Amino acid sequence: MVNSGDTQHIAGSGSENVIRQIKNTFENMPHDIDIYMFASRAGDDVFIKANRQIIRAFRELTSRITFREYDLEHDLARKWNADTSPTLMIAPERYSIRWLGAPMGEEGRTFLETLLLVGMGQSNLSEQALKVIKKIDTHRNIKVFVSPTCPYCPQQAVNAVKAAIELPELISLEIIDIQCNPEIAQQYSAHSVPQAFANDVLIGMGAQSEEVFAASLEKMEPQTVFIPESDAELIETDVVIVGGGPAGLTAGIYAVRSGMKAAVIERGVLGGQVATTPVVENYPGFTQVGGKTLVDIMVSHALEYVQIFQGEEVVDIQPGDTIEVLTSRRRFQTKSVLLATGASHTHLGVPGESRLAGRGLSYCSTCDGPLFKGKKVVMVGGGNSAVTETLHLHHMGVDVTMIHRRDSLRAQDFLVKNLMQNDIPILWNTEVKEIRGEERVQELLLYNNKTDEESIFETSGVFVAIGYMPEVKLAQKIGVELTAEGYIKRDSKHRTNIPGIYSAGDVEGGYKQIVTAAGQGSEAALSIFEDLINPYWLRGAK
Ligand code: NAP
Repeated sequence: MVNSGDTQHIAGSGSENVIRQIKNTFENMPHDIDIYMFASRAGDDVFIKANRQIIRAFRELTSRITFREYDLEHDLARKWNADTSPTLMIAPERYSIRWLGAPMGEEGRTFLETLLLVGMGQSNLSEQALKVIKKIDTHRNIKVFVSPTCPYCPQQAVNAVKAAIELPELISLEIIDIQCNPEIAQQYSAHSVPQAFANDVLIGMGAQSEEVFAASLEKMEPQTVFIPESDAELIETDVVIVGGGPAGLTAGIYAVRSGMKAAVIERGVLGGQVATTPVVENYPGFTQVGGKTLVDIMVSHALEYVQIFQGEEVVDIQPGDTIEVLTSRRRFQTKSVLLATGASHTHLGVPGESRLAGRGLSYCSTCDGPLFKGKKVVMVGGGNSAVTETLHLHHMGVDVTMIHRRDSLRAQDFLVKNLMQNDIPILWNTEVKEIRGEERVQELLLYNNKTDEESIFETSGVFVAIGYMPEVKLAQKIGVELTAEGYIKRDSKHRTNIPGIYSAGDVEGGYKQIVTAAGQGSEAALSIFEDLINPYWLRGAK
């Protein structure tokens, strides 16, 4: 069970069983779903054609969807203020939910979830989010900017869909595909996705949990943390796994197969860094696989065993004989906790970086790359991530130059050869000193550490891939010891200094590979299983 974004795996898997489930769900829905497309007479573009194809595919699954197509001059377009081609409207008699563009790629998940929620006539908001949304008493027009290659986008778009379904009188929603509508993205200076605005005020950059989104929408400013009220639902488990990357998902499979009751909690996108890795070529069994595809396969597998609470953030852990874990939505009482919290992007730490983040500066080429097709950008870094992402941007038609502070790359030989074969320019021995621009990135101040010279480099975008910092905030909060390098300190059984608290994956340091994270997840789960049968802290030895 995934408590939010239930359709994520459905969209990814396509197995007969899942298709049958979707068909049944549509047939049993209380409402039919009317979809209207308004498009310009000027001719069919790729987005108009994609809409027809996507909706045809759904109509093959169910007769509960009707589809009508009008041009932008039609009276209905005027009545519903549709002035952008193409605009999709979902059940406009009941809700104000529209797509500007087409729900392609990752957005297929949002579209499927929207259809299911609209057909059910229910928002499915969590109790905690519902309490917040119900406080809204004035109109909100939400705009969520998304791209088809952004795995974070469906979470934020679905948050907005749920709000629009819950309060149809007060909340209207536009989901805006930035590839189809670059001029609207430009107007809002939305140069990264997802970004959410309410009444033209920025309320969220990146994917938020449902509760944080609700609070941001209610307060009309971005919120970061949501503390649930004390009546939050209580769940008892043997192990709570914090983090839904390869380590956490593998631990979930092993834990449940060992006989433990387990829950995986992931605040952001399942799969962690792998979800935004353009292509993976070193995971056994796959010569070449998209990072997101690999994640979908792992998640489908994990779901065969373990409950996954996605879009939910762990806000507190209280160690003890029974460990209390508080999330943005519920409370867990558990015998053990596995911290598989991974790592987050390292920042350059130069002037202009935080101000221009999302304004031409990006840490995710998979999400934001399509915005820069045909434009000049730089990739800062010299490791495996920087090279993989540079190649991805290059193949996408982006004019990319690498900037690296040394005279050789740290990346695997195979990747470096690939880079050289593609004649991608590299500025060696070069450091970024400042990122400049008024509304968005325009130029960089560079420093050559060999010649001691400074120069200006004009660019439309900057991608930063200079490694990751372990995500240890929770660990530190509860007193878990760290290594000198800032990773979680643990023994060979993945036990930390606090009884009942374990770690696995990138948060432990070492080789940061998908396969090693998965291996650590399995080890940690088996170790927890052995310890719960025969607790080492009661044996007095560690
Ligand atoms: P990484 O291997 O730590 O490399 C970071 C790169 O960024 C290095 O070249 C480093 O330069 C540079 N850098 C660091 N701080 C900088 C700064 N302030 N300014 C400019 N440059 C800076 O990080 P990564 O490439 O993100 O990879 C993270 C981990 O994931 C690694 O263990 C990597 O092997 C793994 N990974 C593996 C694959 C794969 O197997 N195909 C793909 C992606 C990632 P210096 O060289 O000068 O230190």
